[in-house]
Amino acid sequence: MSIKTINPATGKEVKSFDADSSEEVNSKIEAAHKAFEQWRDTPFEERAKHMYKQAEILEQDAEKYGRIISLEMGKPLQDAIAEVKKCAKACKYYADNAADFLKDEEIETDATKSIIAFEPLGVVLAIMPWNFPFWQAYRFLAPALMAGNVCLLKHASNVPQCALAIEEIVNRAGFPESTFQTLLIGSKEVNAVIEHPYVKAVTLTGSEEAGSKVAEKAGKEIKKTVLELGGSDAFIVLEDADLEQAAEVAVKSRMVNSGQSCIAAKRFIVVESVADEFLKKMKDKMGQLKTGNPLEEKIDYGPLARVDLASDLEKQVAASVEKGAEVVLEGGREDRESAYFKPMILKNVKPGMPAYEEEMFGPVAAVMIVKNEEEAIAVANDSRFGLGGAVWTQNKERGLRVARRVETGAMFVNALVASSPEMPFGGIKKSGYGRELSYLGIREFVNQKSIWVA
Ligand code: NAP
Repeated sequence: MSIKTINPATGKEVKSFDADSSEEVNSKIEAAHKAFEQWRDTPFEERAKHMYKQAEILEQDAEKYGRIISLEMGKPLQDAIAEVKKCAKACKYYADNAADFLKDEEIETDATKSIIAFEPLGVVLAIMPWNFPFWQAYRFLAPALMAGNVCLLKHASNVPQCALAIEEIVNRAGFPESTFQTLLIGSKEVNAVIEHPYVKAVTLTGSEEAGSKVAEKAGKEIKKTVLELGGSDAFIVLEDADLEQAAEVAVKSRMVNSGQSCIAAKRFIVVESVADEFLKKMKDKMGQLKTGNPLEEKIDYGPLARVDLASDLEKQVAASVEKGAEVVLEGGREDRESAYFKPMILKNVKPGMPAYEEEMFGPVAAVMIVKNEEEAIAVANDSRFGLGGAVWTQNKERGLRVARRVETGAMFVNALVASSPEMPFGGIKKSGYGRELSYLGIREFVNQKSIWVA
């Protein structure tokens, strides 16, 4: 894929970029390594000073940077601004807490002193997706820089201006030169970066296929990876749920980022005694949402980020309907050349259909009706993915019990699945491994070193 900004709301190319040559990439890696030799020894207070400054810039210029996000990937401007402000929160969180998260841990042994020390690894490569082009990058870079690592960002090819804007912000915040750099490269050039001896670890947020390829290469080079991959989160509605609230959050969760969120609710597993009422509420709410130009109007959802993504989703819907899925809410594309896709609800979704087996990365809700709690858990777990999920019941103890039995990296009881700096984020099964955010996230790219003093 070439590196360019195409406004998904208009289909027009805005700007294209020359990719970095292999010489340019190598000199950036060398500069990063050199920067690491200084940065690794800076005290936490010094790192935090720049991180707080970065938070200030993100807050002050949230609209400026939000506009770049909306232009490149189509989310409504108010959501893009909120995304930039959320990045400021992550910066502050790690500036406040990194020293504590990485302080030596004293362990009782036969030694006179034994500790676990947490030391930075060096240059870490981050391969990131376009769907939350700031947030995904910041939840990596804030802990990585606070840990004393230095970063190279290979962003998705459709959000180069976001990638360059992030580099600009880091520089404006006064971080030393080359502690954070953007590589303008396509995915084919990634292997050479992973191979480079100065690159010590890799994190990827993206699809299962990309994750598997990057992990294969990193495995060959024996380099640590964290993979944050796709999801097909279950949204379980039990018979004692508050249906009004559940339906409201169901629509919000399916429609976040026009349905292009890894932790969007994608499979709605509803107990049969409340299925009709829940579906009616969901359909009414989803049918009322407004779309338009993300940069010009106050809208509920924008276009998908690229026309090819809308085509892929259309194919998944058509194949599911052909296999017997029933359309409850009509939607989809009105124009084959457009990235706009109206929300849809499918019911009678069964094994063998794309809507059951695959991740649907857009505004299509797949509904499965089940007899009871046991069957709901079984259907929720009948997925290759294990990222997040939600359960709705007015009995909190019951909610907790169900939450413990669903095989995912996170479960929410009566709430929208969302990431926050304090709680670890990541998946199991084909959703990947490793954790971002919280104290666990900052400990992924450090040498957890045992030191024994006899
Ligand atoms: P994608 O196609 O996998 O792209 C993600 C990143 O990986 C991009 O920078 C892409 O570069 C790069 N890439 C793709 N193939 C590669 C390869 N073979 N080697 C090296 N790099 C490669 O994913 P996407 O379509 O942008 O994003 C959607 C997916 O990301 C969904 O499955 C979603 O669920 C998942 N996601 C997961 C999380 C999470 O936290 N678990 C969060 C957000 C999104 P190019 O753009 O240059 O191809």
